[in-house]
Amino acid sequence: MTVLADAADAAGFLGAGSTGSGIIARYGDWLPVAKDARVITLGEGNTPLVPADTLSDRLGCRVWLKVEGANPTGSFKDRGMTVAVTVAAHEGATAVVCASTGNTSASAAAYAARGGLLPIVLLPAGRIAAGKLAQAVVHGARVVQVEGNFDTCLELARKLADDYPVSLVNSVNRIRLEGQKTAAFEVVDTLGDAPDVHVMPVGNGGNLPAYWRGYVQYADAGKTTRRPRMWGFQAAGAAPLVLGHPVLNPETKATAIRVGNPASTALALAAREESGGLFEAVPDEQILAAQQFLAAKEGVFVEPASAVGVAGLLAKAERKELDHDLRIVITVTGHGLKDIDTALSGHDVGGGPVVPAELTAIADVCGLS
Ligand SMILES: *Cc1c(COP(=O)(O)O)cnc(C)c1O
Repeated sequence: MTVLADAADAAGFLGAGSTGSGIIARYGDWLPVAKDARVITLGEGNTPLVPADTLSDRLGCRVWLKVEGANPTGSFKDRGMTVAVTVAAHEGATAVVCASTGNTSASAAAYAARGGLLPIVLLPAGRIAAGKLAQAVVHGARVVQVEGNFDTCLELARKLADDYPVSLVNSVNRIRLEGQKTAAFEVVDTLGDAPDVHVMPVGNGGNLPAYWRGYVQYADAGKTTRRPRMWGFQAAGAAPLVLGHPVLNPETKATAIRVGNPASTALALAAREESGGLFEAVPDEQILAAQQFLAAKEGVFVEPASAVGVAGLLAKAERKELDHDLRIVITVTGHGLKDIDTALSGHDVGGGPVVPAELTAIADVCGLS
């Protein structure tokens, strides 16, 4: 082997047996992946756990952000996708299909491209953030825009997988959740124990029970002394798990969680129950304010859906419903660059004042003089 190939092998890109980057290489013993499977990875996982000092002060708690936008396609979906596409390819699939609010399609397209499979993605027409659509397109997905919402797309994706030779890689494919649970492993491996509370946005309801599964498995293995309470937050216009019934026309600027009838409702409710957790809803204005807060005060730019957990905690603190000194981990699920239109909508995007090319003019408008 060449030096370069040795380096690639060390980085975990050459097979399941190697240790290195990618969640299958790191956590393969905990995942349903055959030892002889060709691992399809982009080096996902091992994302930063960033102490959020300003937010900690505001909440009176110790808070960390699990920054999942640092994954290869910019969201946590990559953790599940490496497992789903690896298993699909190992079982002989040549095409994968998913319904998506955007990030699942971006991730499926990238991992399918890497594995030499055809990605087919069903998107609600006109309701996808431009960055995510761009990802599906450049990775070579067969993009189909369906006149309907996400829930309709998912129903059709399931039927396509039933009737045609394509493998479904939505999170109703439980293998995805196995990959996603590795984020909980990483939190524990970094902090040395589970937090008191784990907070996250909830859309289709798969990721929250995936984390719960990870925490439970680590607790059962004696790797933690406790299990966290799981707190899930939804957008007020798309909050079926808070209301207790499906929402026919879900509406929110947080497009990644615009889901009216979560496919993993039962799993999500069970995780809340078993962990002694809760689900609450947050209005869009507070979500967008939390997005701004994270970017301006913590230096972490997330997409709107990813700010829902922070918005929910700030609201609870405001209502004096938050105990002090809790250790809280918040998953921020996707990268802010995926949806710049929403991020910029509250700003003057002329780009600031126009001045003559003179130092003093610049110093003036910056308040330096
Ligand atoms: C998919 C997604 C969610 C919601 O996760 P679920 O597993 O559907 O509950 C939240 N935020 C982002 C950025 C996502 O891509």
